[in-house]
Formats: sequence, structure tokens, C-alpha cells
Amino acid sequence: MNNNKVVSELGKVVGDRNVSDEPEIQFLYHYDFITAEPEGQCDIAIMPEKAEEVQEIIKIANKYKIPVVPWVSGINFGSIATPRKGGIVIDLRRMNRVLEVNEDDMYAVIEGGTTWADLKGYLDKHHPNFRAGITFSPPGTGVVPSCLCYGMFDLGMIGGTGAEFLNGLEAVLGSGELVRVGSCSISNKWYGRQPLPDLAGLFIGWEGTTGIVTKAAVKLWPKLPYREDFAILAQTVDQGVPVLLKLSKAGLGIVDIVFVNMGWCQAIQGFDEKNVAKDPVELGLPDFVGVVTTQAYTEDQHKAQCNAIKTICNEFGIEPTTAKDFLDSFPSDMRGVFLDIFPGYGGYTPVQAWGCWNFSRGGGGEWIGSYCSTSDIARYYNIAREITLKYNKPPQFYSRIMFGGHYCVARANLCFNKNDPEDIEKARIILKEIFDDVHELDGVIMYKPPMWVVEHHKSKTLPATTDLIKKIKKLLDPNNIMNPGQGIEGD
Ligand SMILES: Cc1cc2nc3c(=O)[nH]c(=O)nc-3n(C[C@H](O)[C@H](O)[C@H](O)COP(=O)(O)OP(=O)(O)OC[C@H]3O[C@@H](n4cnc5c(N)ncnc54)[C@H](O)[C@@H]3O)c2cc1C
Repeated sequence: MNNNKVVSELGKVVGDRNVSDEPEIQFLYHYDFITAEPEGQCDIAIMPEKAEEVQEIIKIANKYKIPVVPWVSGINFGSIATPRKGGIVIDLRRMNRVLEVNEDDMYAVIEGGTTWADLKGYLDKHHPNFRAGITFSPPGTGVVPSCLCYGMFDLGMIGGTGAEFLNGLEAVLGSGELVRVGSCSISNKWYGRQPLPDLAGLFIGWEGTTGIVTKAAVKLWPKLPYREDFAILAQTVDQGVPVLLKLSKAGLGIVDIVFVNMGWCQAIQGFDEKNVAKDPVELGLPDFVGVVTTQAYTEDQHKAQCNAIKTICNEFGIEPTTAKDFLDSFPSDMRGVFLDIFPGYGGYTPVQAWGCWNFSRGGGGEWIGSYCSTSDIARYYNIAREITLKYNKPPQFYSRIMFGGHYCVARANLCFNKNDPEDIEKARIILKEIFDDVHELDGVIMYKPPMWVVEHHKSKTLPATTDLIKKIKKLLDPNNIMNPGQGIEGD
């Protein structure tokens, strides 16, 4: 590829300042800096400002058959925005405007490169009674990619995955055409994907391999005056999970149910893994830290919800405390990032969850993160725990009960030192072993899958389904330029 010629053509679209093939710029986009996945090669990075410019870029890429990777922050834990086959990385962060907020139907129309910090900042200023879900990812990561890739937020219990937060989309296809799906396709209202054919699925779960979403409507939720975060401690995950599952089905105004094990809790507090007990269970420490968040409109409603939560916990011999009381039991310099999460400490904040990859020096982090049946959470954990301990690493685990208890996320995290090739290799071995063993449980499906997991997915898919996926991909991206090498569609 003649970079100079292409850069010059692209410069005419976005201005010379917004396109580059300088090595120091290429470096920024060539890998997912936290994972142990293989690096890629970014030949050209470009920052468009509007959908029409994205269209022009895609047309040029089609003319020269150059790969294109949409990108917002590139830290997704699966290395799914890594340019596997070189080409152009489209950094969407100049497209970060909140275009509309509809308080009646509770949604915000945002551009494809809007970050969590952009959205929260805008809502706090202009619509303080509404909020978006909040992820545990850093503030500079993208809202649209998180939704497209089935990310999950602190409203997962009422709203489901990020994909379920999407009301409609505008997207530039791999062919360069601009489309709209959802109610916005035939009206100015972006209230939902009903009742037309639901074409949002052409972009959800495809990891940018079919098109680039330039606008999306995401659901907002009201901030109710009463809220409580309960901490629910149990000695083991096996003991704690049934309590959460019962709470999830009790219809108590609960917006979020999440739990972490002691290892994850210590990581997010910023401890170095060398200084913590690898296996707290052995020391008799509680290994299960659940957080249940509820909100209400009136004080009476709130009290009734809190009482019912206590009653259910008591049935299992557990006394819940408020998350604030729980955190106050730690010295102030040991509370870590939790301070940012809970409203008692000024919360509703996207967090700089540096603890997740700072548990060991060297900043490496990756996970086996899956959706699965709620009946398999404890088994998932025990499998991952045993394998991690076998390699003398502290097990870290996180699970969130989704959409009223209909399914869940289960995630075994691993930290490693990216300056230590042996530690990286060990991480790869552990991750693959956990992956193999948890996939013995029926229905465990990894999201934001790195390439080697995509191969596994392909091997399981029915041939006719694979065929259908390939046909759709071909239709939307005839020259296979969109994020090639990623996604279930083929090569
Ligand atoms: C410490 C930490 C904690 C995290 N916690 C969470 C969490 O709680 N919940 C959660 O959901 N995620 C979490 N994540 C994962 C991730 O950071 C988020 O999901 C994030 O929002 C993804 O944004 P990104 O900007 O990194 O996406 P990118 O890596 O830039 O993109 C992700 C994928 O989407 C594609 N893409 C990007 N933009 C578009 C677009 N406009 N149109 C089409 N395709 C596009 C890319 O090509 C890529 O395949 C966490 C990450 C870290 C590092």
C-alpha cells in the first residue's frame, strides 16, 4: 500500500491535521495495551468529525481494499479493536457530541465516539435528574462500543446488557452506505427498535466488522431520591450466590446485583498481589462480597424495600450492611476505587479502575468473561479459582445478575506483568485452561472474544448459521475491509 497517496486522499476528507502515518501515532493504535493478545499494525490513524467523513473514508478504503478498524479507546480486554491486518484505524473520538436528550422517553442520542465521561458530564450539567448506566471501565472508553459489544452497567438488573440499552442506530456500512435502524429510521423519535424489523442486530456483537455506528440512542434512567447500596458478605461464593438469586426474583426495585470475590476486591483496592493472601478462604476470610443497589421514589417505599432485602438475607443467615458502613470498616487509604462507585461517597462515576490491571506490577490484565446461566455461577467460579491457585495466582472473580435474574455475567480476571515474558506466558496458559474448563458448562459464551475464542465459537456454530453470518457480512462489507480477522464471520 502506498501510504503517502492514501494519506493525502484522506487528508482531503478530514484535514491534514486529522490523519497520520507517523510511527509514534501508529504505535498508539497497534494493540490493546492491557491484554496478552498478539499486537497488530496500524498503518494510518484518522479522526473524522462527522458521518459523511466516515463514509468518504470507507469509500477510499474500499477503492484500495484497505482494512478499517473503528476505535474509541481500544481497551476492551479482548483486543477486538486491534488492527490484525494493518490498514486504517478510525479513531472516533472527535464524534463525541450528545445530540439530543429526550426526558419523556428517557434516551440520549449520542455520536459513535462519545465516551462515558462525555455522556456523564453532559447529563450532570443539562439533565441532572437522569443518568446513563455506568461501567467499571475507565471514563475515556466508549459508550457505543460498550453497548455494541454486550458490555454491562450498574443498571444491568433492570436494563440488561448494553445491547438492550440501544434504541436505534445510524451506521455507515462497510460498503459506504449510510443506514438508520429503529424508530429513528422513519421518524425523528429514537424511542426504540420496535415495531420494525430489528436490524440493530446487524451491528451488535459484530465487533465493528459490518459497519461503523455514527449515532446511537441509549436508554437513560431517572435518578430517584432514595437509594441504598447493601453489602452482603458470605464465607463462600456457594453460600452467597443463592441469596442474590433470590433477591433478583423478588421484585424489590433493585437496579443492580453484583458480586466479587476477595481477590477482585483486593485488586480494585489497589493492593499488590504479592502482598495479599492468595487464598483468603484458607484463612477463613469471607470470599464473597455482594453489592445490591436499590432505589425508590418515596421514603416508605425505600424502607419497605430495605426491610424486604434484610428479610431475604436473614433467611440465609446473613446480615446485610450498607456499602458505606462496610467501606468505613476499612482504613480510609485502603478503600481504593470503591469510593467512586457508591453515591454515599459521591458515586455514579465511571471509575478509573486501575486496580483491575494494577494487581501485579506491569499493568497486564485479561479475562475469561462470559454470559451464562445463573445456575452455573458458583461452578464457574470454583473452576476458575482452582486453576488460578494451581498457578500460584490470586483468583479474581466478578459476576452480575442481569435483567431481573434472567441470566448473568461471570468473569474470571487475571493480572500479569507485561514486562515479564514468563508471566505473560503463564497468563495465557491460565486463561486458556479456565476457558476450556468453564466451557464444559453448557451455555457459557464468552463476550468481546479474542481471536482464539472466535475460533472456538466458529467450531460450535451450526453450518447453516455460519453460512447466514457469512452472507450478511458479505452483503454489508463486500470487500471484507471491516476489522478483518475479528468476528465470527470468517477469515
Ligand atoms: C478496567 C476495565 C474495566 C472494564 N469494565 C467494564 C464494565 O464494567 N462493563 C463493560 O461493558 N465494559 C467494561 N470494560 C471494557 C471496555 O473498556 C468497555 O466496554 C468500553 O466501553 C469499550 O470501549 P472502547 O472505547 O475501549 O472500545 P474499543 O476497544 O475502541 O472498541 C470495541 C469494539 O467495538 C468496535 N467499535 C468501536 N466503536 C465502534 C462504532 N462506533 N461502531 C462500530 N464498531 C465500533 C471496535 O472495532 C471494537 O471491535 C472494562 C475495561 C477495563 C479496562
